[in-house]
Amino acid sequence: MKLSKLASEIAESPTFALNEEARLLRERGEAVINLGIGEPKNKTPIAAVLASAAKLTSGEIKYTPPDGLPSMKRAVIRYTEENYDRLVAPENIIITNGAKQSLFNIFYSILNPQDEVIVIAPYWVSYTEMIKMCLGIPVVVTPEDGTFTPRFEDIERAVTSSTRAIIVNSPNNPSGAIYPPELIEKIVKICEKKSIFMICDDIYHKLTFDRNKAFPAYQFTKNDVENSHVIVVNGVAKLYGMTGFRIGWVVGPRDLVRVMANVLAQTTSCVSPLAQAAAEGALNGLQSVVEALRLQIQNNRDVVLQEMQTFNGARLIPPKGTFYALPDIRAFSNNSVEVSKFLLKKAMVVTVPGKEFGMEGHLRISFAGSVKDVTEGIGRIKWALDATSPNEIYIGDKKMIRDWM
Ligand code: PMP
Repeated sequence: MKLSKLASEIAESPTFALNEEARLLRERGEAVINLGIGEPKNKTPIAAVLASAAKLTSGEIKYTPPDGLPSMKRAVIRYTEENYDRLVAPENIIITNGAKQSLFNIFYSILNPQDEVIVIAPYWVSYTEMIKMCLGIPVVVTPEDGTFTPRFEDIERAVTSSTRAIIVNSPNNPSGAIYPPELIEKIVKICEKKSIFMICDDIYHKLTFDRNKAFPAYQFTKNDVENSHVIVVNGVAKLYGMTGFRIGWVVGPRDLVRVMANVLAQTTSCVSPLAQAAAEGALNGLQSVVEALRLQIQNNRDVVLQEMQTFNGARLIPPKGTFYALPDIRAFSNNSVEVSKFLLKKAMVVTVPGKEFGMEGHLRISFAGSVKDVTEGIGRIKWALDATSPNEIYIGDKKMIRDWM
């Protein structure tokens, strides 16, 4: 069968593939623990359920404007004012099918073939694939010092006459790192100086721990949204644990939004009004749900830190935000794909290989689930890899003995 070379070369989403593998194992009755997918366990906030239900019972479920329902845009305008201290107009906003579509449509709208986008490792798996789908070239900058924070000089050195954008995801999936304000400021400045876009994937911006804060790029520019080179991507998936509603949005210059709206109109027409109503409900409803989720995730992070203390060999830079940890497992193996497969086979625990995020020798562990899953999951990983841990463990009701070291 002849298929497109470009499409065929796009990698499978490892998190979705692993999720499916975990589901099949569970269906077979295996006591699998999924530390792969980034999805909080909370129920949908009631304000979102009610708003969406009201829309549904109205029976008026039709196309919406391609760039989003005016009422949903009003909710985003308010959100932007409250959280970013920026006044934006409806023309600066587009509502999309998840932050994923926001990002794809941004790349599609700003890139010509062979244009470059600077991506900072470790990076979210989809950036590089999306850039390639839009005929662009991802240029990866990797911190050389073993941390997850790049040096500005390395980013600066990667900028060429073909660079169209730098994508910044802080708090970062998969490392949980938050970039320092000085770095954000320098990236804003270089983007303005060179007229390139700074794409801020802010999907985890409120999921920060202790006193750490993610600094919005807008804070470092005097330009208004129209004249700044900052594009902000956000959504309800992580903020409210509303992953299944598929609502994201972009705040950016109106020329960009206009082009993006045409792209969206010609591909998916619009976003379902039921999902938009739900997101509107969440944004306009009680915001204590966000803080409750943050506290629960922070507690899980503390459990991760505690469990990792007795994991001899693995090194972890404590996550400052998100719900991911990215321990360095090079003491056991440099091949994270092999380790991840081994852990699923021997310990029935799903992790994502660091290689997928441009960080070989690491494993991503999601701690978005329950404390029990996090504790037991890390316990199983220790048992499988760390020779100093007890060599007997229960997986489900089966007593397992480590016999490979
Ligand atoms: N950006 C990052 C960094 C993410 O981790 C994710 C989800 N895993 C997204 C964007 C996409 O979010 P959504 O579910 O709204 O498409």
